[in-house]
Amino acid sequence: MVYKKRWKEALDRLHKTNNFPEFTGRVCPAPCEGSCVLGIHEPAVTIKNIECAIADKGFKEGWVVANPPHSRSDKTIAIVGSGPTGLAAAAQLNNLGHNITVYERDDRIGGLLMYGIPNMKLDKGVVDRRVSILEQEGINFIVNTDVGGKGNNAIDMVKLLDEFDAILLATGATTPRDLKIPGREGLGVHFAMEFLLKNTKSLLDSDLEDRNYISAKNKKVIVIGGGDTGTDCIGTSLRHGCESLVNFEIMPKPPIERSETNPWPTWPTIFRVDYGHEEAKARDGKDPRAYSISGKEFVRDENGKLLGINTTEVDSSFNEIPGTENFWEADLIFLSMGFLGPEHYIIDELTLDLDSRSNYKADYGNFQTSYKKIFAAGDCRRGQSLVVRAIDEGRLVADKINTFLER
Ligand SMILES: Cc1cc2nc3c(=O)[nH]c(=O)nc-3n(C[C@H](O)[C@H](O)[C@H](O)COP(=O)(O)OP(=O)(O)OC[C@H]3O[C@@H](n4cnc5c(N)ncnc54)[C@H](O)[C@@H]3O)c2cc1C
Ligand code: SF4
Repeated sequence: MVYKKRWKEALDRLHKTNNFPEFTGRVCPAPCEGSCVLGIHEPAVTIKNIECAIADKGFKEGWVVANPPHSRSDKTIAIVGSGPTGLAAAAQLNNLGHNITVYERDDRIGGLLMYGIPNMKLDKGVVDRRVSILEQEGINFIVNTDVGGKGNNAIDMVKLLDEFDAILLATGATTPRDLKIPGREGLGVHFAMEFLLKNTKSLLDSDLEDRNYISAKNKKVIVIGGGDTGTDCIGTSLRHGCESLVNFEIMPKPPIERSETNPWPTWPTIFRVDYGHEEAKARDGKDPRAYSISGKEFVRDENGKLLGINTTEVDSSFNEIPGTENFWEADLIFLSMGFLGPEHYIIDELTLDLDSRSNYKADYGNFQTSYKKIFAAGDCRRGQSLVVRAIDEGRLVADKINTFLER
């Protein structure tokens, strides 16, 4: 009995501080563990695993149930984008009794939780079960609706401004950084997100039976760029059964242990082995990463077929090192080199200020854009980041919108 009470109290605490521990417990890189005091001398407390275990037990026992508000206000809020920022803000504003509509241009709710992070890392059933609770709590989700877009299913931003008391932009940072070198145009070179999105959609729609995805089966694959996106491309290519796999990093290989300039409790910038690297090593006998590599030219035959890529090595200031030119064979190359802020078509008809990195300009903590009724939070405000930061901004912006509506 005491045991059960403690589990429930722990679950309650997690929900109060962080709406969706079942997501962060699976995908967070756990910056908290880098600051754990135990981590000075030995492995840190595994906070992330504990968080995940508590959340999973809560769902298994049926303790996580819909908790709709007791009464409703007359205020209406449109949230554009259903990633973790949009979901966290929707949950909190709905709890306060406001009327929430979430617009999503994709056919499923969840943003990068659904169509970015692959199924093997974050099972989509985990996303759906949370969305189902939010629906039961009264949030109105509208999919296949591109706010500010041009297609059949587009809805005008000006119309939203007429109909709603406040609007939250939670559209993510979805503009990919390109590698503009000779040979870029043509088949075989894809942005990572095209590969990952199509793969998850085909998996969920038909268990990959519809073949509506970019297959890496029996292909020589190169992934350019590291981070979570690069790792997910590695893990997905391996599951397809690629012939070979290389992952270019432009940075030098990080040290095994913290350097003197990177002391506890700062985030340790050290060599890490994520699931994709581990799986590649288990299959091919070696880590797939090649460091300090810069792409110079995509090489194609006379018919435009991709043959591979010419590279050079660079020093820590990214200066090319003479004599290090190399050619790497490839049938498929995925570009995973980060993101350049949100797509701006949504504000075509409005004049909304941007910051120097082309994100929507809105101060952290205030979140109001240059247009009074419009707020911005998450990746579209700060640039591509982490799920836990998106949830944090979603909760904080909800608070600000509530204060704005009470005036
Ligand atoms: C491949 C990949 C893997 C990642 N892995 C991790 C990880 O393991 N751990 C981690 O912490 N972080 C990870 N991240 C980062 C994390 O997913 C993001 O920081 C987080 O999802 C941002 O949340 P968001 O709600 O601000 O935006 P998003 O999750 O990007 O959601 C934005 C949503 O808005 C929708 N949208 C955009 N424009 C419109 C429009 N005009 N009309 C309607 N809808 C629109 C989009 O379709 C999307 O669904 C990863 C990112 C990528 C790309
Ligand atoms: S969500 Fe917070 S507590 Fe959980 S693993 Fe991430 S940083 Fe740690």
